[in-house]
Amino acid sequence: MVLFKKAKPMKSNVVIIGGGAIGLCSAYYLNKAGASVTVIDKGEFGHGSSLHNAGYVCPSHFIPLASPGTISQGLKWMLSPVSPFYVKPRLERDFISWVWNFKKSCTDENVRRAMPLLRDLGNASLDLYEEFAAMKAFDFEWTPKGLLILYRTERGRHDCEEEAGLAKEIGINARLLDRPSLQRLEPNVEMRAEGGLYFPDDCHMTPAKFVEGLAKHLEAGGVRLLKNTEVSGFKIEGKRVVGVATSAGDLSADEFVLAGGSWSPNIVKKLGIRLLVQAGKGYSVTIPRKENKPAIPLIFAEARVAVTPMGDTIRFAGTMEIAGLDLSITRRRVDAILNSIPNYIGGFEKSDFAGAEPWAGLRPVSPDGVPYIGRFSSYSNLIAATGHAMIGISLAPITGKLVSEIATNAKPSFDLSLTSPDRFS
Ligand SMILES: Cc1cc2nc3c(=O)[nH]c(=O)nc-3n(C[C@H](O)[C@H](O)[C@H](O)COP(=O)(O)OP(=O)(O)OC[C@H]3O[C@@H](n4cnc5c(N)ncnc54)[C@H](O)[C@@H]3O)c2cc1C
Repeated sequence: MVLFKKAKPMKSNVVIIGGGAIGLCSAYYLNKAGASVTVIDKGEFGHGSSLHNAGYVCPSHFIPLASPGTISQGLKWMLSPVSPFYVKPRLERDFISWVWNFKKSCTDENVRRAMPLLRDLGNASLDLYEEFAAMKAFDFEWTPKGLLILYRTERGRHDCEEEAGLAKEIGINARLLDRPSLQRLEPNVEMRAEGGLYFPDDCHMTPAKFVEGLAKHLEAGGVRLLKNTEVSGFKIEGKRVVGVATSAGDLSADEFVLAGGSWSPNIVKKLGIRLLVQAGKGYSVTIPRKENKPAIPLIFAEARVAVTPMGDTIRFAGTMEIAGLDLSITRRRVDAILNSIPNYIGGFEKSDFAGAEPWAGLRPVSPDGVPYIGRFSSYSNLIAATGHAMIGISLAPITGKLVSEIATNAKPSFDLSLTSPDRFS
């Protein structure tokens, strides 16, 4: 449990650009701090990447995406049209720069540096989710059941053992399990995997219920939500942003928060800022299922597929396609997610998925696997809150809390030198 310092009450106006999980959680804590808050979204609130993802709140994801082995594994995967990872080569300066910095970050040093911060942010965020759940203002099916990684190959076993070792080193609760122990832990489904790694302290929830419930709660609490309103430019005075131009007119404020997810680089380009974020497209397929499903969320290690029981449904999610701001669905990669299921668990037939519509979302991916949280040095009143890649739902509450601390000029609860939005400039 982290004890947060009390910030001074904030009297200023804040405009948040982007109303996904990150923007909405920022609005929640800024509103609590006394600010007058407006959130602007070009679509519906929470309908970006935050809508139908896997819903893991996972301090277990303490290893950054940019780690040794990612490049060699990624190159192998690139050769397969049904692999869980794909990078579409492009001759764009920002893309090339992102790839260069991603490659540079795939080191042990990056992992060692990022791990304690990701652990601390993950744990603190989980505590804040517990507070949301205890508040009972809206139900988001908060479920503390842990997370179970399943492997079926020697390589998968090796990776899980290595991860278990790192987890032990940094104090994350994790247990390696053989097949009989897996089956005892999860008696509702036939376990076909060879073994697994269990993180008992992770939780999960239904992300659409969280973002939609939070948006309503914020509106009832006096936060102004402008949907279907696109931020298209800025008004500047010296080193300060004084207003945003939107499709519904201009808006001025004292502080601005950039929470535009994968669209963030395009938004701040107009300010002359180059922010390295690539969209990492992923898919999910959700089917109704009340019983005969796992109670604990699963990850299929080799297939990189996430399985989440959500209320009366079950969701299968996966793939990472770095292919620009493109939400089109590549059917063969969705099929690859579904085809992996019988390799790990029994009880699911192809016909169960007939008619199920796949969903696509764009994860905002930074090159080093660490989010951007902090003020930009080029503007004194512009705060970055983006780049959370695969852990944006997990880290949304703590990001919002940190944004409110930064905006109130309180000392942030964590050392944020690694999350500086200027670190690749
Ligand atoms: C398949 C899949 C599974 C995932 N599973 C998990 C998981 O289990 N756990 C986890 O922690 N994370 C998971 N993620 C990642 C997570 O979904 C993201 O990290 C998170 O949703 C990012 O939130 P965000 O608010 O930054 O972005 P978004 O939710 O994308 O929100 C950005 C918002 O900005 C708005 N916007 C953009 N441009 C403008 C503009 N010019 N003006 C106004 N508004 C604008 C958009 O409309 C959008 O609503 C998953 C992602 C995918 C795709």
